[in-house]
Amino acid sequence: MTLDFSYQPHSTRVVFASGASAGVAPWIETLGCRRALVLTTPQQAADGEALAARLGALAVGTFAGATMHTPVDVTEQALARAAALQADCVVSLGGGSTTGLGKAMAYRTDIHQIVVPTTYAGSEVTPILGQTESGIKTTVRSPKIVPEVVIYDPELTLGLPVAMSVTSGLNAIAHAAEGLYADDRNPITTMMAIEGMRAFAEALPVIVETPRDAEAREKALYGAWLCGTVLGQISMSLHHKICHTLGGSFDTPHAETHAIMLPHTIGFNAAAVPELLAPIGDIFGGTPGQGLYDFAKSVGSPLALKDFGLTESDLDRAAEIATRNPYANPRPIDRASIRTLLQDAWAGERPPL
Ligand code: NAD
Repeated sequence: MTLDFSYQPHSTRVVFASGASAGVAPWIETLGCRRALVLTTPQQAADGEALAARLGALAVGTFAGATMHTPVDVTEQALARAAALQADCVVSLGGGSTTGLGKAMAYRTDIHQIVVPTTYAGSEVTPILGQTESGIKTTVRSPKIVPEVVIYDPELTLGLPVAMSVTSGLNAIAHAAEGLYADDRNPITTMMAIEGMRAFAEALPVIVETPRDAEAREKALYGAWLCGTVLGQISMSLHHKICHTLGGSFDTPHAETHAIMLPHTIGFNAAAVPELLAPIGDIFGGTPGQGLYDFAKSVGSPLALKDFGLTESDLDRAAEIATRNPYANPRPIDRASIRTLLQDAWAGERPPL
């Protein structure tokens, strides 16, 4: 083995424990802050109000407008509210959409962020912000985007609906899977990727049967941290690029798109780097693509893009957009092979590898 890598961890404080979200207040003070604005989606507004009430004088208000793909106009509304309330930090309570809003605010103002994740998206441990303006989604990376504190409390995920748990878990597995062959991977990201995927392979089948199983919920959230950390360290390839195209240009839902595409993109790349993707076969059984497909099916994941509003004729344009800009990928990409891969994912076919 020849080792040749660079390793740049991010300076996030990660706190992981059942019940840890009860300890948000001391972290606000540790950051030197006194006026927190609690962020949520409209769907989690009541949870945000309850958290703000528990924070007492340390919370100056809530903003419950976070939404998928981080629209710039929502960020501007949240910034205006933060300024009006003289907030000196945000507490982002929710999934990737809420985390995205806090990151977008920090990107512009450097406001401190405490994130309390309630899904497995993993955004809280990446320096990546995807945001949309006039229908165009762009991605930026910056140290300013990295949250200062992440508080993982498995208790907050006990009620995450099973369908969302499954697709969000597969979204996390996708971060780890692409980490196995990324140009800029390192031994730490590879270890974390394998451990993270194994955690989900064990936890998701239990969650499907017993959604409030505390041990499985803990394991899945641990997997989310690991897989998210991998994403935060590596450059994304085919899988994330295609999902970005489908979500950005065809408005397909984020986690479901990742869940459906994962067996196909990983199966495609397995032809080029079977040895790097061998851990996926070890964890899920079979070949990497088929093992992931069978696992996704066994936990009730959606399998076909056609079930999410994408028409067969959209696939030509999707293949064209996804191959327009070059990026690193272990297997060379051409429009015809990506069109074939998309056809299989559209129809919900088991991938060939
Ligand atoms: P989400 O944050 O949009 O959540 C989906 C819905 O589930 C929302 O209504 C939310 O309020 C609700 N919800 C969240 N947790 C819940 C819980 N425990 N119980 C009940 N309902 C709950 O979905 P997501 O998949 O977590 O995040 C998707 C977004 O995150 C996308 O915009 C994606 O681009 C972004 N993302 C970014 C990164 C990154 O590194 N930048 C990584 C992953 C995802």
